[in-house]
This record gives sequence, structure tokens and C-alpha cells, in this order.
Amino acid sequence: MTKKKYLITTAIDYTNDVIHLGHAYQKVLADALARFFRLSGHKVYFVTGTDEHGGNVEKAAKKNNRTPKSWCDEISKKDREELDILKIGYDRFIRTTDADHEETSLWFYQKVLENGDIYQGEYSGFYCDACEAYKTVSELKDGRCEFHPNLELKRVIEKNYFFRWSRYADFLKEYIKENPRFIIPETRRREMLSFLGSGLEDIPVTRQNIEWGFKAPNDPRQTIYVWFDALINYYTAAKKTGFWDENTFIIHVLGKDNTRWHTLLWPAMLKSAGLRLPDTTLNHGFLTLEGKKISKTLGNIIRPSELVTKYGTDAVRYYLLRFGPLFDDADISVKRLEEVYNSDLANNLGNLTSRTAKLCENSAAEFALAKKPGKFHPAVIAPLKNFRVDMALAGLFETKIKETNEYIDRERPWTKSGDELNKILNRLVENIREIAFNLEPFLPDSAAKIREQFKGPKIKPDKPLFPRIS
Ligand SMILES: [Zn+2]
Repeated sequence: MTKKKYLITTAIDYTNDVIHLGHAYQKVLADALARFFRLSGHKVYFVTGTDEHGGNVEKAAKKNNRTPKSWCDEISKKDREELDILKIGYDRFIRTTDADHEETSLWFYQKVLENGDIYQGEYSGFYCDACEAYKTVSELKDGRCEFHPNLELKRVIEKNYFFRWSRYADFLKEYIKENPRFIIPETRRREMLSFLGSGLEDIPVTRQNIEWGFKAPNDPRQTIYVWFDALINYYTAAKKTGFWDENTFIIHVLGKDNTRWHTLLWPAMLKSAGLRLPDTTLNHGFLTLEGKKISKTLGNIIRPSELVTKYGTDAVRYYLLRFGPLFDDADISVKRLEEVYNSDLANNLGNLTSRTAKLCENSAAEFALAKKPGKFHPAVIAPLKNFRVDMALAGLFETKIKETNEYIDRERPWTKSGDELNKILNRLVENIREIAFNLEPFLPDSAAKIREQFKGPKIKPDKPLFPRIS
């Protein structure tokens, strides 16, 4: 990771409904990484957005008596509001209905066509409506989609255009073997290698009977398949800004249900179009709420904004980053969020800043103005080399924050005065400024508040950062 530019993307979300807490994890994760690389001095371009074409969106719009476009406008706007509440600092929110994406998507399709990788054929097999994806027999679990076991798979026979995916099986195998960090974590990497073991079947990249999408340039009766169109969004956003060149380290953040598309289909598409491949895909696990999948049918949908209104942005970010499904699946609950809030944020971090501010005020001392910028603590940097945001946060709390609290307990500054007291307070203030800098990728609001409160020369108490929840 010695490159100076970083492109960080999240999966783009379907506009059949507004995003919920399950989607929020991925955005917070990508945002923390983007902030970290930026604060480390790199140029970063961070992209998120909405995936607006395809049958599911068409259906949702119809059900709500809306045109697909006006429906997507509304959902996409609400998604953005959820992201803003979580302080997701994206550089571009791309919509697959954006004009520049249409242009790029059609150009890409044409390029693959010219390379001889798109041909006319007939598809006969299974299709999962919820995934909007064709399923080969080897992908089925007891004859059903592994991600939607409650849904009957459709048997479809369609005339459409196919992508010569099979041509790239050996290339992909080599690429994954030679680039151990292309698919993180290792479990997903092994899964993809084993899937490749039996070769790849060509897949349709156009659909008939779907109105809502881009018309295939070589046959306007066909619509470009939603996955083919959606994956190209990364390239649309990046090429314009110069972030799809060889000097950029490209990271796709996504959920494990999308691993196959991002690590096998997308690289094959890029190879066919003569474009460079991403460096890393970070494939996170599933998040469950009190042991259950978050879904409309189960009626347990929580929007990020609902939790933020009650606990604040940073409490939600902290809980997700520290305990979310980074590599393995993770279960979360509101009760656990409250416990973590009180123990880590209110009692630990919050208490440290408020008692230090009080000591500073009582001493009437003046402090040198804060130097900018800070630097990251080794306990934060080391785990982030492997994208371990959970361990980086834990590391910060277990070293700098804990040590500073212990330092106060040991030195008992309230029993000291004069130079002795000033020395202790100066060290405390310096530590807290450093903590604020280290918190910034994860808890940007709190970092800004702490920085402001401790910038000097006078330092005094303010409203508690994290008022205790009783
Ligand atoms: Zn499915």
C-alpha cells in the first residue's frame, strides 16, 4: 500500500427501499478507511451510491404507483439523508441513472462486444428474483438460493446476449493466486478459488421483458443486465477524477453476498474492456439484529437515523465499527449498544475529557495552542494495515485512552500545585489532543468537539461528550 492515491467504494444499494442498519455498517466501515487514508496524507476518492435499474426497482415503483425514475429520486434522496446522519464523507454519490454513467456503461458494453466477449444465445436455467441473478446448479442449496431460501426460484428460458465469462476462468485463478490480498478475508478467497475450480459458465448480460434499464447498443429490444450495468459505476466515478490509473490503490468494500460479482465477474469485465483491476476487495459478513436477519417480512427494520436520534452519530459508528461483521457475521442489539455506550464512551472516553477539562479550569493555566496535524498511534496503524477497524479502535481505547486515565489516577493532579501540576496537565492535554486525532476516522464528531475544547490557551468543561444512559 505504498501508492499515494486511494479509491474506496461501497456497494451501491438497490432503490427498491431505503437503506437500513444492515447497509449502514458497510458505509461506516468504508468511511473510516477513507478518513484514515486521507488523514495519513493520501489523496482519497470515496464513492457510494444507488443501484437504480432492474426488475426489483421496477416492481417497487409500480407497487407505489410511481414511475421508476421518480421513485428512485425519492429513495436515493432518503438514502443520502441516512448517510449524512452517519457522517459518511463520500466524494461522490453516484446513481446508475446519472447521465455520465449511462455514457460509460454503454461505452463499456460496446468495448466488451468489440472484443468478441458478447454473443447471442439462449439461457435456460434458474433465476433468483431477489438477487436479480442467474443461479447455476452448483450455487443452489437444497434447490434454493442460498441467500433467499424462502423464495421459489424461477425457471427461465430467455433469448439474450451472453458474456464470455468462461474465457476468464484461468486468468482469474492466476490473478487471485498471485494477489493474496485481492479477496479479504481468506475464507472468501478460498470459496472463490473453489468456485473457479469447476470453471465458469457464460452468463447473460442482457434481459428481455425488463423495461427499466439501458438498452443494449447492439439490440434495443434487450436491456443491459442490472449487475453488468451496476458494477461499472466504480469506473464511471473514478475515471473522471483520475482515480482509475496505475498510481491508485483501489479498494471495493462489499458484503459477502456480492463477493462473486466483485471478485469474479467485475475483474473479467475489466480485463475484457482492457482496464486495470482493483487491488483489494473487502468482503464483510452479515449483520443480524437480536439473532434475526434484518428484513421487512420480519418487521425488524431499523434505520440508522432512528438510532442516531437516540444515541448520537458517534455512538452508532463506534458500536458498528467495533462490533460489526468485519469478517465474520455479527449479531447486534440495542441493549448491547447501550452497555457499550456507557462503559466505553461515557465512562471511559467521555469521563477522561470532562475530568481533564475540569482540572485545567481549576488550575487557571494557559496551554500552548494545538499543533496540527497529529499522528496515528501504532496501535491504530498496525491493525489498519489489514483493514481491522475493530482492532484499531480497541487498540486506541486499550492504550492511549486507558493509559491517560491511569495516569490521572496515579498522579492525582488535584493534590498537586505549581510547576508539578502544570507538567501533569500539559501532558494530559497533549495526550487528549492526540486521542482526538486518532479518533477522527472513527468518531469524527467527537474528535472535532474534543479538538475544539482542548485547543487552548484556556481549557474549560463543556457539555458531556456522551451523557450516561440510565
Ligand atoms: Zn437470491
